Amino acid sequence: MLATALVDLVLPADCAGCGAPAPPWCPACAAELAGPRRLALPGGLPVVAVGRYRGPLRTAVLRYKERGRRDLAGPLAALLAAGLAELHAAGGAGPWLVPAPSRPAAARARGGDHVVRLCRAVAAARPGARVVPTLRLARRARDSVGLDAAQRAANLSGRLRVRPSRLPPEGVPLLIVDDVVTTGATLRACRDALVGAGLRPVGALVLCDATTGS
Ligand SMILES: [Zn+2]
Repeated sequence: MLATALVDLVLPADCAGCGAPAPPWCPACAAELAGPRRLALPGGLPVVAVGRYRGPLRTAVLRYKERGRRDLAGPLAALLAAGLAELHAAGGAGPWLVPAPSRPAAARARGGDHVVRLCRAVAAARPGARVVPTLRLARRARDSVGLDAAQRAANLSGRLRVRPSRLPPEGVPLLIVDDVVTTGATLRACRDALVGAGLRPVGALVLCDATTGS
């Protein structure tokens, strides 16, 4: 079938973590994937990460995000789906996944928004889940490299915008999705922007926990 052929085209042929010819994860890398973990971040937003930012998970995220390996969206989304189950039990509406926005120039350079692609792959495998790119970054957004947590938060909160044309239905539970959490400032800024628009963020789902001290 054509649909099967199209899906097959985007399946990786190698291990996402080390490149061995054993997709989606070779036994050694699979053994290092610990499973979803809950994070305690300031601000009280429940956050679940797929794993720490190291080892095969870190390598897979870097290959996916920076080295053009869009086919790794599938294996990474499968890990996110396990984290989603931790945050949002089956039943009821949603969840609706809200991608943390990338700078438009960065998304263009990567051939598309890598977090949106992940969200779509998660939603495709999870009945009831939807993707809604409600948040965007205003133009002239500064890169956050080199900023401390407080500067990062101030920088972000001033440039996050809610798209009036991309609002989820009122009252549905929203999960913010991002690739890596470092200080949590991005997730808090996203949460605040959604709350400010009268929406209902209930948690955040990220691939990698790069916070210090855990
Ligand atoms: Zn491997």
